[in-house]
Amino acid sequence: MEIQQADYRQVLRSFEPQTEFFVGVDSDGCVFDSMEVKHKECFCPMFIKALKLQSVSKFAREVWEFVNLYSQTRGSNRFLAVTRALKLLGERPEVIKRKCHLPSTEALEEWAARTNPLTPAALVAEFERTKNPDFQPFMDWSVDVNRAVKEIMKGVPLFPYVKESLDIARVKADVFIVSQTPTEALKREWTENQIYQYVRYAAGQEVGKKSEQIRCITEGRYAPEKMLMVGDSPGDLKAIKANNGLFFPIVPGREDEYWKKLAEEGLERFFNGTYKGAYEDALLKEFANCLPSDPPWKQ
Ligand SMILES: [Mg+2]
Repeated sequence: MEIQQADYRQVLRSFEPQTEFFVGVDSDGCVFDSMEVKHKECFCPMFIKALKLQSVSKFAREVWEFVNLYSQTRGSNRFLAVTRALKLLGERPEVIKRKCHLPSTEALEEWAARTNPLTPAALVAEFERTKNPDFQPFMDWSVDVNRAVKEIMKGVPLFPYVKESLDIARVKADVFIVSQTPTEALKREWTENQIYQYVRYAAGQEVGKKSEQIRCITEGRYAPEKMLMVGDSPGDLKAIKANNGLFFPIVPGREDEYWKKLAEEGLERFFNGTYKGAYEDALLKEFANCLPSDPPWKQ
């Protein structure tokens, strides 16, 4: 893993900028309309099945969708998401009344706090080392999820105006994919959809966290006000802000509108230096409004 990460980073560091602008684009749920089908048909059904939540399935589903699609934790790592979902579920009066037994997340949380990256393989390695049975349900769930994703996630479309936006961006900027998907899968998916030609390189999960990916590509090369990240999750926003750059949100539920906005005005403002300030602030406000922190059932 260490050697592999170093190799991927080396490739990124060896790029010579062709322009003075960096545009980073997230893939899953941003370029591809994948989040709804992936969570509603793959992650959530397996959450109910593998963690034995059948008796509270209605509430488990609400919690899963809130954590992964419609709140500030949208797009987070699967093991962090499952922990958060189980905690929220355990607090619900309906679940307490039904006396549903929820698996303990203690060992998983302790592992997650000291591990990077949080991959299924890293969890299996930890289980083999410790033999702690509390990891078992989460390993089972993760395997079930991968199988469901393979079976169900076919023909996932691009959002409208993605191609138009990338085609405008690549004229003046070096465009990179910044994603937590494996690099080879990114290359395949973007090539199949005829959009890989718009980017300089795909930075996948092997490079590290998104903030590290952006740093690896941009450090010492692009001025912060000439760096823009396009993403659909708060993690994308945090990653570019950790590198002092600018953010354009593809607001969940209104993706078509926001890709069109990026093509018609966002990129032009980025290139002519009128993006930072009031324009970006208004976009960030819209983004925050659509992803609350507190669940609706608590209000
Ligand atoms: Mg995303």
